[in-house]
Amino acid sequence: MPVALKSNLCCAGVETHCGSKLLAGYRPPYDATCVERLVAAGAVIVGMTHMDEFGMGSSSENSAYGVPRNPWDDARTPGGSSGGSAVAVAAGLVPLALGSDTGGSVRQPASLCGVYGLKPTYGRVSRYGLVAFASSLDVVSPFARSARDLELVLGVISGADERDSTCQPLPPIEPERPAEPRRLTGLRVGVARPYVEAAAPGVRAACDAALARLAQLGAELVPVDLPHTEYAIPTYYVVATAEASSNLARYDGVAYGRRVTGDGTLQGMFAATRDAGFGAEVKRRILLGTYVLSAGYHDAWYGRAQRVRTLVREDFERAFAEVDLVAGPTSPTVAFRLGERAADPIAMYRSDACTVPTSLAGLPALSLPAGFAAAEDGRELPVGLQLVAPALQDARLMRVARALEDVLDAPARRAPAFGGAR
Ligand code: GLN
Repeated sequence: MPVALKSNLCCAGVETHCGSKLLAGYRPPYDATCVERLVAAGAVIVGMTHMDEFGMGSSSENSAYGVPRNPWDDARTPGGSSGGSAVAVAAGLVPLALGSDTGGSVRQPASLCGVYGLKPTYGRVSRYGLVAFASSLDVVSPFARSARDLELVLGVISGADERDSTCQPLPPIEPERPAEPRRLTGLRVGVARPYVEAAAPGVRAACDAALARLAQLGAELVPVDLPHTEYAIPTYYVVATAEASSNLARYDGVAYGRRVTGDGTLQGMFAATRDAGFGAEVKRRILLGTYVLSAGYHDAWYGRAQRVRTLVREDFERAFAEVDLVAGPTSPTVAFRLGERAADPIAMYRSDACTVPTSLAGLPALSLPAGFAAAEDGRELPVGLQLVAPALQDARLMRVARALEDVLDAPARRAPAFGGAR
């Protein structure tokens, strides 16, 4: 099976530049565990895909290598940061692609491109060979055109790996094979009130229609509150930038990628290399992350963010005492226009309002094509429904997605760039 890889997954001998000038020409000497396992299972790696630099973005525009376009409307973003992998699957170039999801980077582009995307439970897929952005949040995550294909790929890439100490010592994820795959009687689904409230009316309507299908299959829908959701984005931008500032310290012109000599001193080389190699968003985050970790500010910022992260996780624990799954929109809007949010970092960060909370909590979450909603110009664009499960219940997510994919007509429609009709 042909598979495309986000350009932050190491593939021996193949340029893995992470969307950054700093890693231009960098060829890793080894394969990431997920790549090694795919190849061992017979997959053929056909190419590396476009991304926001080091995974920092929601539109794939923060890259040193141009901008990818949404196959449903080429004036719009495919989402990000794994935009290229989403496009490759939505445009029919490959049936399967890997990305990484730190705050939504697989689920959000899957939603905007009308394909399936799954962020497994943190620690279920090895991060060995995934170039680090924010290590407590990064998860290798697949895109596919069906829930069945997600099950297939997850069975290959998940499972213990002693080369990643955060990878759980568990066997690969096994699919659930219920006797009656289309019956969801007894399944309690919590509809996430804050995600629904964040969504544009058309997105809300498409998700409601998909949830009504879930109810027809026998599931019981109940509202859930998740009261700390509004703090998730600010918390994420403290935790993720802190970790990024530490992880990206290694790019100093010594061991990896690009080197700029500068004034000839060692400090001068570090400064000149980082100044020339990193783009504006990466620099912004390194500054932010260094600040929140600095002496005197560490407790006020980083320490507090860690405590709020716990509150966000406890929101889900409370919800899962009552329900089996949480559901809601993946993205508050359909695909937005290229350039529309590029000048406003906060507007860009808010694109992830519904995906960041599950990242902070480490939970498995899947986006499936639920239907379509009209953009402001009337054009019909894909809408993703997000399903979230308790930790380690990845198989439950895929079982429910499989039941739904059989009754929703969205997956049958194909992007115009894939020969589909609008
Ligand atoms: N858009 C978020 C960010 O910019 C999430 C990115 C990701 O998941 N890699 O950090």
